[in-house]
Amino acid sequence: MSRVLYRKYRAQNFDELIGQEHITKLLKNAVRKEQLSHAYLFVGSRGTGKTSTARILSKAVNCLDLKKDGNPCNKCEICVSITNGNFLDLIEIDAASNRGIDQIRELKERIEFAPSKGKYKIYIIDEVHMLTNEAFNALLKTLEEPPSHIIFILATTDVHKLPATILSRCQRYDFRLGTELEIEKVLKSVLKSEKLKIEDEALKLVVRNARGSYRDALSLLDVIVNSQLQSKDPQKITEDEARAVLGIPEVHMVNDLLSALLKGESKKALECIKELEIKGTNLVQFTNFTLEILRGVLVSKISNEDITKEYPFAKDLTIKEILSLIKEFLDVGRNLKTTTNQILIFQMLIPIFSEDTKQEGDSTIKRESKRSSTILEGKSEKIEVIHSDVVHLEIDEVKENWKRVVNSIRPINTHLYAFLNSSKPVKVKRNELFIEVPFKFYKDQIESPASRDVISEIVFKIFGTHCKLSCCVNENTKPKLQSSADVVLQNVPEKSKKEEGIDIEAVFAGM
Ligand SMILES: [Zn+2]
Repeated sequence: MSRVLYRKYRAQNFDELIGQEHITKLLKNAVRKEQLSHAYLFVGSRGTGKTSTARILSKAVNCLDLKKDGNPCNKCEICVSITNGNFLDLIEIDAASNRGIDQIRELKERIEFAPSKGKYKIYIIDEVHMLTNEAFNALLKTLEEPPSHIIFILATTDVHKLPATILSRCQRYDFRLGTELEIEKVLKSVLKSEKLKIEDEALKLVVRNARGSYRDALSLLDVIVNSQLQSKDPQKITEDEARAVLGIPEVHMVNDLLSALLKGESKKALECIKELEIKGTNLVQFTNFTLEILRGVLVSKISNEDITKEYPFAKDLTIKEILSLIKEFLDVGRNLKTTTNQILIFQMLIPIFSEDTKQEGDSTIKRESKRSSTILEGKSEKIEVIHSDVVHLEIDEVKENWKRVVNSIRPINTHLYAFLNSSKPVKVKRNELFIEVPFKFYKDQIESPASRDVISEIVFKIFGTHCKLSCCVNENTKPKLQSSADVVLQNVPEKSKKEEGIDIEAVFAGM
């Protein structure tokens, strides 16, 4: 079975062009009455059928057995050779790929020659707006006084880039995007011919993602069909398969991650995030999808519908908890836009939801609701807007919660955790936090941009404000816990120690 569906199912006569009846009707009449123009301009988005129409028109004007309604026969020698792409009097120029200079020059030289077989010699110039000025001028000359056996069909997605001199010499046709219903109709007929079944949801996803382009719709279907050949039932396309190919997250991934987060299962949550990374999931899309699901869960909870079968994570969740999840994922969505390390933003969710944080976190929740734009007020489930205040960091508060900051970093980065474990906050000056560490090597590690990002985000989550972090080396701040040294020694591979010139043993010799 051919897998290039768009080519296989390309319309071969005017009637097969779905959604462009306003154009095909006129063209059929023109062909029937032999009232042809010497230059046509087809305008429209990609995948709306401009090139297919150009080829059908080329057939119709040259067909040896034209049908009464103006459609080509698709059986005569000329029709067949156009279908096969080897008709000498049909010259296709793609202006996008080579800007057409040589071809337009050649066109000018050869244009006087009569067609070799057909009645008309046809030039299809695709993406005509991409021609160079030189090529445009050459084209314009030929458009001014074209020999009677020549027909130009110019196609473009960007008509505003065409010079008025060209526009005024062409008969213009505007191709419109397919409606969802039209795209669905085309897809269904292809699926039927290919003896394939598709789940309704999967079909909807393809239709929505084609955004009105017939070509995109069939290309997407192509990729899905190809990728699911190994699946249990290759003749049936499932929603999950469609999602995987289109880069739209699968429902189970949202379920798994939210379940792990809510249960405080850090390891499981990390694995889910790793899976998102490996699958190359678009995290912005994933976040939107999660929010969409949470919105559905919220509505269901309010209306007392049971959705635990579809969304097991939502079992036993209170409305307050759902709102807090929504808030966290809205934050994630905002943060994703401003960071280069999107995975980190997801990893940051783990300490927020981990058991430790939950137990210690009462003060945080109150604090966070201050800077949050919305909070839930008591049991009345009324949402009230509170204007945020700038939160200033205070050293006593930092000291009191420093262990929590450090512990929150552990599931994200064990190295950094090890370095911070022996650190001590000393002062805060204009939201710059100074901490003491025992060795310069620690300072370098903690002050690296990646580490700073992690710390700053955790500080933000716990204290409700970002801060600048500076380390001072104080050799009296010796690590109390053997574990921090152990972690460092275990986690730095032998090779990298040497490569980076870090003498770990020497660093710890003085402990
Ligand atoms: Zn024919």
